[in-house]
Amino acid sequence: MKAEYNCPYCNAYLLLKKYLVLSARHNGDPAMLLFMNPELGNTQAVYHPNMQVRLGERYDFYCPVCHETLTSELHENLVMVKMTDEAGKSYELHFSRIAGQKCTYKIMGNTFEFFGNDAQHYLDMIGLINMT
Ligand SMILES: [Zn+2]
Repeated sequence: MKAEYNCPYCNAYLLLKKYLVLSARHNGDPAMLLFMNPELGNTQAVYHPNMQVRLGERYDFYCPVCHETLTSELHENLVMVKMTDEAGKSYELHFSRIAGQKCTYKIMGNTFEFFGNDAQHYLDMIGLINMT
């Protein structure tokens, strides 16, 4: 079994080949499809060459299937998708929706792991630090 990523609303499979597929929109810009590297803490994304990603700007992320907004309930700057690892364990995966910000949080119940150089940024604000 390999890791899977699913929409928290419609359960659509979001991992195709080696990419996590989401749609995103910056205020005023046309919406775009993003092929994101699902490696935890990796923020590389593939997108159409006619589109532009504005570093440091916050994007709205949507499920490409049901179009629900994927904003995390933990913090308004984070996005959440469901993840199931190779062993069949389910997690919530929260990552920044600010372009270029490297932080990902993998949360299961009271335990969590975090990844990326900017991960410390939200630890206090989302109260994760108290969960250990
Ligand atoms: Zn969905």
